[in-house]
Amino acid sequence: MAKIHLKTTKKRAEKEIKKSKNLIELNQIFKRYLGKQGKVSQILGSLAKMSEKKRLKMSKEANELKAFLILELDAKTQEIKEEVRKSAEEAEWVDITIPGKKPVFGHLHPLTQTKKKIEEIFQSMGFSVIDGPEIETEWYNFDALNIPKDHPARDMWDTFYLKTGLLLRTHTSPVQVRYIERRNPPLKIIVPGRIFRHEATDASHEINFYQVEGLMLDKEVSVANFKAVIEEFFKKFFEKDINIRLRPSYFPFTEPSFEIDLSCPICSGKECSVCKQTGWIEIMGSGMIHPNVLKNSGLNPRNWQGFAFGMGLDRLTMIKYKINDIRLFYSGDLRFLNQF
Ligand SMILES: [Zn+2]
Repeated sequence: MAKIHLKTTKKRAEKEIKKSKNLIELNQIFKRYLGKQGKVSQILGSLAKMSEKKRLKMSKEANELKAFLILELDAKTQEIKEEVRKSAEEAEWVDITIPGKKPVFGHLHPLTQTKKKIEEIFQSMGFSVIDGPEIETEWYNFDALNIPKDHPARDMWDTFYLKTGLLLRTHTSPVQVRYIERRNPPLKIIVPGRIFRHEATDASHEINFYQVEGLMLDKEVSVANFKAVIEEFFKKFFEKDINIRLRPSYFPFTEPSFEIDLSCPICSGKECSVCKQTGWIEIMGSGMIHPNVLKNSGLNPRNWQGFAFGMGLDRLTMIKYKINDIRLFYSGDLRFLNQF
């Protein structure tokens, strides 16, 4: 009777273990058979009432069943744990071969890139980079630069005047005077900065744009020094051999004054649309600093001399990248800006 009972218990337990789907069910099966009130425990508890021979036999079989069930339960537990692990892995699986989403990086505006390049080149030649105010007095913007009130040369610049009597600087040249006033020569500076002109805008004119002023002041500075410095600058800026030529010109703050032409960096002098089929590009104004400007800055022109130059940062950028409309720089159009 008891033997049959053990066999059916074993069969039933085996079936239940096989069918169980999770650890909770397995735990219930364990309790049902091997717990304190479990079926196997009950059988083992009832052994005392049996005859010795029967008791030995039953005890052996019941313990074997107990060991068997423990092994079965353990095996099933491992099986379920493995299944759980596998399904979790599948759910969390990541395809590391799928291309990632790259964050969009910003970049510097083409004019800023040009400004940085210019600063780098002049710094390598020992020039300092100087800044100055965008709102100026008439004195620094005109008078100190040898352009008195009744001088016709004031008409060369279309000026934004402010109600306070101040004005928006029409060139970066006022910084020359401001700087010389506070420092003792020898001086080597460049002044990149924003300037303003009261004029109609078109493909080559804007009401505000950027200029780079340059100045070298010492006891013996000549036009030859200027030519060497500026030629070196253009070679480094356009990263190719560049020739320059000086044409006589007029500026109130330099004497003599020159207009500088650049051998076309696009066609190397072979004539193209950028140089208007001439092989040369007009690029900057320059000259030897006028004695009156030195006097107005507090220096004795008998002791000091130097050259000064000014060029359009926008224009340089336009030539370098073959851009035909200055207004593109200020349009904020990403289709344009993303090309740099
Ligand atoms: Zn050309």
